[in-house]
Order: sequence, then structure tokens, then C-alpha cells
Amino acid sequence: MAELKVVVAGAGGRMGAANIRAVAALNGLALHGAVAKLHAAVDRPGTPAIGQDAGLFAGIGPLGIAITDDIDAALAGADAIIDFTAPQASVALAAKAAERGLIHVIGTTGCSEADDAAIAQAAQAGARIVKSGNFSMGVNVLASLVRKAAATLAEYDIEILEMHHGRKVDAPSGTALLLGEAAAEGRNIALRDHSIRVRDGHTGPREAGTIGFATLRGGTVVGDHSVILAGPSERIELNHRAEDRAIFANGAARAALWAAGKPAGLYSMTDVLGL
Ligand code: NAP
Repeated sequence: MAELKVVVAGAGGRMGAANIRAVAALNGLALHGAVAKLHAAVDRPGTPAIGQDAGLFAGIGPLGIAITDDIDAALAGADAIIDFTAPQASVALAAKAAERGLIHVIGTTGCSEADDAAIAQAAQAGARIVKSGNFSMGVNVLASLVRKAAATLAEYDIEILEMHHGRKVDAPSGTALLLGEAAAEGRNIALRDHSIRVRDGHTGPREAGTIGFATLRGGTVVGDHSVILAGPSERIELNHRAEDRAIFANGAARAALWAAGKPAGLYSMTDVLGL
């Protein structure tokens, strides 16, 4: 059985801790013909988690792996990176994954078009990248329902509402954008040309065929999303409520194992789940 040596990047973050727990929980468990093993945990210099035992930091008892700020040492001998950090860090890691032919699972949201182009280039240059705005099974199934509803109810207005904890730094969330992309696919339109990201002041009436976004921030909300299809005299609401970051971390670990058997390229969670 192939062993996949996984590096958790952004180990000192909320998702970093969840990713350490998910990989440790998979230890020895075969999935997609491979078993995952935590190889290293890395974060940027100066982060308080540096030097701490990854398992103790993640609340699961000692693993004997200290969180390091030396990315090249962490990647030596590794097979895969699970990376929920920040766009700049993910672009830099994608280049390292390409150089070394590694699997790179990217959960980071808020990437610009230039960031996404650099990540796509790394996938062409040898990295096996799985990138998704949401790694949970539930949201990916929701996206396929949204695609179908948007296509069938072609005249209905689509609005996407999301709420996250107050420390989130990008908006709309990567999940809201993923759901917007699904709706746009169902309509055969490009989200970029039809989305309304902000409304303020005298906006005039709603333009037909647009996909609207609304963002709420506060408290410790892990992630709430609603896709509303509003038509004449009726409204459909498709909702997802994330209750624990484990749903993203488990999906990311599963994506890394899935990618073990794949050639270099850019994949999504839709590919992993075969949706
Ligand atoms: P977080 O708690 O702020 O963790 C981010 C970690 O990355 C921190 O340890 C941070 O270090 C580190 N980091 C930030 N910038 C870096 C850089 N330039 N180089 C190296 N490390 C850097 O945030 P989070 O809640 O875990 O979320 C992380 C990302 O995952 C966000 O983009 C979030 O939207 C996304 N996310 C995605 C999914 C999904 O399913 N795709 C689900 C949940 C969250 P410092 O503490 O020193 O800044």
C-alpha cells in the first residue's frame, strides 16, 4: 500500500489544526489505494505555533512533529501539501509543488485572477493540484443541486447569502463564489460578467439574469450559505450550515489521497467526488 507523506501548511491556523487532526485520524486507513501520514507541519516565521508539537497544538496529544517555519525542510521527502493559508502563500507553495511534482490541495480562498493563473501554471508545470472553495461533501452536492435548479428555473432571480466568523478576511466567501459558479454554469453564463457583489445606495431595479451576493460577518460562525431562487409568487432556498471545520479537513485529506493516482493537472472537489 502506497504511503502518502502529507505536509500541513498554515498549521498554526484554525484550518491548520483541523487538517492535522484529519490527517492523524486517517493514519493507516487506506483510501483510494493509499494511506496518509503526517510528515511535517509548517507555518510562517513568527507565528506563535512555531516549535510546538503539531498534535498537542491540534488538541490530539503529542505526534512528535514540531511545527516548523522551514518550508524546504518540511517538503523534503514529502508527497503532498494540504494548504489552507493565504493567496500569496498558496501561489508560492504551488511553484514548489511544481518543482517537486507534489500533490497540492489548496483550500485558500480570496485568490485573485492572477493568483489563479499562477496556480494553473504550476499545475501545467508538474504539480497535482486540487483546489476548491469548499472541501465538504455537503457543499459540493449542494452545488450540483444549484446547477440543476438554475438551469430549470431559468427566469428566477438568484441571490447567494453567506455568513462567517468575524475574523474572515475575504468576501464573498470562496463557497459563495463556488455556488455562484454552479448557478452560472446552469445558466450557461460567465459568473464574472453577471455577478453583483455589493449593493449600496440608489441601485435602481434588479437587472434580470444577474447573480447577487450578500455577506454577513460575526461571532464564531463556521460557514452558513443560502442560495435563493426567487420567482413569481414562490421562492426556493437551498441551505448549507457548516458546524465543524472537520468537514473541510476530511475532504481535503480525501482529495490528497485521490490525487495520488492522478497525473499533474488542476482538479476540483467535483472531480474527487465524481459529481
Ligand atoms: P487562519 O486561522 O487565519 O489560518 C491561516 C494560517 O495561514 C495562519 O496560521 C497564518 O499564519 C498562515 N498564513 C497566512 N498568511 C501566510 C503567508 N503569507 N505565508 C505562510 N503562512 C501564512 O485562517 P483559517 O480560518 O484557517 O482559513 C485559512 C484559509 O482557508 C482562508 O482562506 C479560508 O477562507 C479558507 N477556508 C477554506 C475552506 C475550504 O473548504 N476551501 C474552508 C475553511 C476555510 P499567521 O497566523 O501568522 O497569519
